[in-house]
Amino acid sequence: MSKALTYVSTRNKQEPIDFYTAILQGIASDGGLLVPDFDLPQLSLKELMDLEYHQLASTILKGFVPKDGHLLIEEACKSAYGGSLFPKEVVPVKKAGDIFVAELFQGPTAAFKDMALTLLPHLMTLSLKVKKEARDVMILAATSGDTGKAALEGFKDVEGTSIKVFYPSDGVSAIQKQQMITQEGKNVEVIGIDGNFDDAQTAVKQAFNDASIKAVSKAHQIFLSSANSINIGRLLPQIVYYFYTYLSLVKRKEIQLYDEVDFCIPSGNFGNALAGFIAKKMGLPVHKFICSSNKNNILTDFFTTGRYDANREFYKTNAPAMDILISSNLERLVWFLSDHNGDQVNQYMTRLKEDGIYEVDPAVFDQIKQYFAAGYASETEVLLAIKDMYEQTGYLLDTHTATGYHVIKKYREESQDSLPVILLATASPYKFPEAVYEALSQNKADEYEAIKKLHDLTHIEIPAPLIDLDQREIRFKEVIKKETIIDFVKEKMTQK
Ligand SMILES: *Cc1c(COP(=O)(O)O)cnc(C)c1O
Repeated sequence: MSKALTYVSTRNKQEPIDFYTAILQGIASDGGLLVPDFDLPQLSLKELMDLEYHQLASTILKGFVPKDGHLLIEEACKSAYGGSLFPKEVVPVKKAGDIFVAELFQGPTAAFKDMALTLLPHLMTLSLKVKKEARDVMILAATSGDTGKAALEGFKDVEGTSIKVFYPSDGVSAIQKQQMITQEGKNVEVIGIDGNFDDAQTAVKQAFNDASIKAVSKAHQIFLSSANSINIGRLLPQIVYYFYTYLSLVKRKEIQLYDEVDFCIPSGNFGNALAGFIAKKMGLPVHKFICSSNKNNILTDFFTTGRYDANREFYKTNAPAMDILISSNLERLVWFLSDHNGDQVNQYMTRLKEDGIYEVDPAVFDQIKQYFAAGYASETEVLLAIKDMYEQTGYLLDTHTATGYHVIKKYREESQDSLPVILLATASPYKFPEAVYEALSQNKADEYEAIKKLHDLTHIEIPAPLIDLDQREIRFKEVIKKETIIDFVKEKMTQK
C-alpha cells in the first residue's frame, strides 16, 4: 500500500494535511513550510520522452495529488501550458557556445515566475472546488519584482480570489514597477512598501499566523493564502522544466538518455533550485546544481561553509530579483537533507530568528556539498558576463542569468567537471534594459530608451508584454510603511 499523499510542516508542529489544504493554506500554522510526507514519486525517463509540456506537467503533478484530483490536474496543466500563454515549445533550449540556455521567460510577463504562476491559480480554484470552500481567498504576495507581476496576471479576475502584492518601492527595476502598477483586473491591488524584499516577505509570513488577522478573516468569511514560493503549489510546477529541458537535449541528441548533466540556477528565495533537487530525487540524472548569486552572496557562503549568516549588509544590485537575505526555501532543503527531522529544522529556524544565524550539522553539510556548488558575481562581473557571452555567441543574457554564466565559467575552471550544463535563464534581457545596454555599449540610457537601443543594436525581439509599457495607465500609487502591512490587510478584509 502506498502512503497517503499528506503534507507536513518542516517544523513538525502541524498535523498532516492533504494536497488541497496545503495549496489553500500556503504556509504551515507553525511558521514552517509545507512538504510532502511521502516517498517522492519515481519517474521513468523513457516514458516521458514523447510528452508535450502540459502532459509532462500533469504526469509529474499527479504524483503529488490524490486520485480524485487527477482529471482536474490534467485540465489545469492544459490551460496553463497547452494554450496561448506560452509558445508551443514552452521552454526553448538554446545553445550558446558550450552551454545550454533554457529560456524560462517565454510566458505572459517575460519572467520565469510565469512557469509556476500560470498554474497556481488553477491549483487554487480546483482545491476550493474539491474542498467545497465557500469563503473567498485573499492571496498575499511579497515580491522582489517578478513574482508580483506574474501573480497579478495569474490571479487577475479569477473567481473567488483577490490578490494584494507588496513590493519594495525602491527595490525593483523601473520596468518591473511599471508592469505591476499598470496591472488590470477587478480583484488586484499593488502596494509599495518602504522596506526591502525581506521586510515584505517577513510581514506577509507573519500575517498568516497573526491572531488578530485570524479573527477578522473569520468574521468576514475570507482566508489568506500565498503566491510566493513558500506555497507548495509554486514549487511543484517548477519540477517540470528540469525534466523537460533534459529530455529536449536527449531528443536533439545533444546528450544520451541517462547521461548526467549539471544545472546552473540564478537563485534568490531558492524555490527554483529546490525544485531541481526534487527532480533529481524523482529520478532525473543531475550531477550538480550550481547556484549563482549576486553581491548578496549569502547562499554562496552557506553552500561553502554550512553556516547561514544573515547578519550582513543588504545590497541593491543590477539583478534585483535576487536581492534577498532570507532564502525561505532553504528550510525545505534542510528538512529533506536532515531525513525529514522537523525538530532539528525548528531549532535551526529558531536560531535564525533569534540570532540571524544557524549552522547545519556535518551530516547535512556533507550532502549539501554532494549536490550543490555555488558562486556569485559582483555588479561589474554581471556586466562583463553579458558582454562576453554576447560577443562570443550572439546570445543576450539578462543580469540575473548573467550571474549564472559567470559562476559556470569559474566553476569549470576550479573543478574537473566538464559535463553538459543547462543554465536556467530567469528573465528576458529587456526586463533589465539599462544594465544590459550598458554592458554592451558602456553607455547609459533610461529604461525605455535602453529597450529601443538594445533592439537597434541586437535585433533581438522585444517580448510582447514589454511593448508600449510606458503608454499604459498607472492604477496603483500607494506606498505604506512596512510596519503597517498587517493593519492594511485587516482593513482590506473588512471592506470585502
Ligand atoms: C525570482 C527570480 C530569481 C530567483 O529565483 P528563486 O526561485 O527565488 O531562487 C532569479 N531571477 C529572476 C529574474 C527572478 O525573477
